[in-house]
Amino acid sequence: MRKPIIVGNWKMNLDHLEATYCVQKLAWLLRDAHFDYSSCDVAVMPPFTSIRSVEVLVEADRLKIQYGAQTVSVTSQGAFTGDVSADMLAALGCKYVIVGHSERRKYHPEDDATLVDQVRAILAAGMQPILCVGESYDERKQGIELEYAVGQVNDITRDLSEEEAANMLVAYEPVWAIGTGMVATSKTAQDAAHAIRQHFATVFSAKVADSVRILYGGSVNSSNASQLMSQARDMDGFLVGGSSLDPEEFDKIVRLTQKAAKQR
Ligand code: PEP
Repeated sequence: MRKPIIVGNWKMNLDHLEATYCVQKLAWLLRDAHFDYSSCDVAVMPPFTSIRSVEVLVEADRLKIQYGAQTVSVTSQGAFTGDVSADMLAALGCKYVIVGHSERRKYHPEDDATLVDQVRAILAAGMQPILCVGESYDERKQGIELEYAVGQVNDITRDLSEEEAANMLVAYEPVWAIGTGMVATSKTAQDAAHAIRQHFATVFSAKVADSVRILYGGSVNSSNASQLMSQARDMDGFLVGGSSLDPEEFDKIVRLTQKAAKQR
């Protein structure tokens, strides 16, 4: 059984003071609801400058909320102005790092070779990559969305060992659904998650396919989370952007997702 996970991608929002407030409020809401972290993971991905504040709060209050980063350098140290290494993130207690988010692919020169090196750096530092894949509206119109998303997974993971592949998380995030309010149907999300899982079974093994957690991302909120989760059996949770910035909304998404996962 894979443990569901809901990940909040804060993007370039919430400075270190706002981050502390947001995580504290989320933790209180989940505590008041007697949230069972043993059956569901909850993680936030702050900007680099807020990670240390989240770490201090999590340690001081012994919170079970996990956290990570939104990208990482491919190099370990040296003259790379502005970069942050995987070891630096691991030293801050990060558990996950997002790789290949469509906004990174669009605004930064992060090609497949870079993404492969990022995945290797993250795994080598003992963290788990959350690899984002998904088609644009053009590929969907052409009817090649599944081949496209699976192809992106293949491009980044094909040279990994079985053990490395089993530590991956994949977020299926159709680009047309990110930040647009146009959420995928549960069938679309399930079809993509199923195709990605089948790919891991074919290239690696049934064991790897069974352990990789596959998330859906794109305009998830508390009104659509239950339906999406209850009907997409290959999906193990969500990567949530905008709706993760409001702790009350994120708390609702987390609890609805956990409930829907239990009832499947
Ligand atoms: C994202 O950026 O990963 C995302 C899913 O954003 P949103 O939920 O705002 O569509």
